[in-house]
Amino acid sequence: MLQRLGAILTQRCPVCLRGKVFNSLLGMYKECPVCGVHFERETGYFLNSMFAGYALGFLLLVPTAIWLFFMQVSFMVFSSVIIVETILLWPLIFRYARIIWMHTDQMMDPRPPTPHDPV
Ligand SMILES: [Zn+2]
Repeated sequence: MLQRLGAILTQRCPVCLRGKVFNSLLGMYKECPVCGVHFERETGYFLNSMFAGYALGFLLLVPTAIWLFFMQVSFMVFSSVIIVETILLWPLIFRYARIIWMHTDQMMDPRPPTPHDPV
């Protein structure tokens, strides 16, 4: 369990917990470079990561919103800060939403590494 948490934090493969998932800021490997598992299990597989994305965005933006509310800033400042924060955090939310979804799916419906797995 602790190993999986580490793999989630370091954005690693949900099956072997070692291979990298992303090869650029928003680009993903199609298969795990270590165990060869195909990340996109089926068409539209990553649509479910939107739910993780909403939850993450909510958790990250609500503290700022509450702080701004108590600072009694104007509506313009409030909106601007929230919009800028969303834009800055968007790549982070995108990546962790997919990672969290893949790991959740792997825990609910485990799949072994692919048969041609060299490991
Ligand atoms: Zn892997």
